[in-house]
Amino acid sequence: MSMVHFVGAGPGARDLITLRGKKLIENADVVIYTGSLVNPELLQDTKEDCEIYNSAKMTLDEVIATMQEAVSRGADIVRLHTGDPSLYGAIREQIDILKQKGIAFDICPGVSSFCAAAAALEAEYTLPSVSQTVIISRVEGRTPVPEREHLGSLAAHGATMVLFLSAAMLEKVSADLISGGLAPETPAAIVYKASWPEEKVLHGTVATLPALGALDTIEKTALVVVGNVLGREYELSRLYAADFSTGFREAKT
Ligand code: SAH
Repeated sequence: MSMVHFVGAGPGARDLITLRGKKLIENADVVIYTGSLVNPELLQDTKEDCEIYNSAKMTLDEVIATMQEAVSRGADIVRLHTGDPSLYGAIREQIDILKQKGIAFDICPGVSSFCAAAAALEAEYTLPSVSQTVIISRVEGRTPVPEREHLGSLAAHGATMVLFLSAAMLEKVSADLISGGLAPETPAAIVYKASWPEEKVLHGTVATLPALGALDTIEKTALVVVGNVLGREYELSRLYAADFSTGFREAKT
């Protein structure tokens, strides 16, 4: 059946797409991909006669018109978004129009860049006694952020934070986090192009974020990770503690 598949392309590395996502790309007659971020190598899996569109050069109306035209001739369409489509993917506005038009769609999840960044950092975002919460957010830019979610108020939790779309505004990120109550020496890192061959990891603190960013002209495809989970201190998990019984094993005392 002709339909639109929203597919998470993963963070960049060609083999970090799901098996399902790869199969959908292989079967597609039309692929509309987010050219600013998706690794173009993923397009090498398309059929020879697959039509490929770069949505970075298109408006929402043009994307929808392309989908509608393709569906009308029975084509199978992949809308390829970077990472996982649910995060800053602008899929809701596409989905709502497809629903209005009665065009069938489904969604194939992907490995988000925040997961690839953790791997690059060799980090666990949720460490016992340090943080059991991950806040995914962004600094306010041209896209407004609701007042109650401004970085300062989120920082007050002291939880692990992963900031998307913020690497070009590190002065503001640093100032907002500190004004929200984070100690300037709280560990922070910038992960540029996680999982790509040109991946780079820069370690510093909340206070040194602007200087870190200036070291390398890291602007676009980068995440800012903040929190004491990047530090040295934590407690061992209860799950694997010898004196702890679980549904699967008795405590060894
Ligand atoms: N849906 C995507 C995010 C899209 S928003 C996901 O789940 O990852 C685009 C932002 O994502 C970029 O500005 C950058 O902050 C981040 N990003 C995407 N891919 C990245 C990567 N490989 N490494 C670091 N940051 C990345």
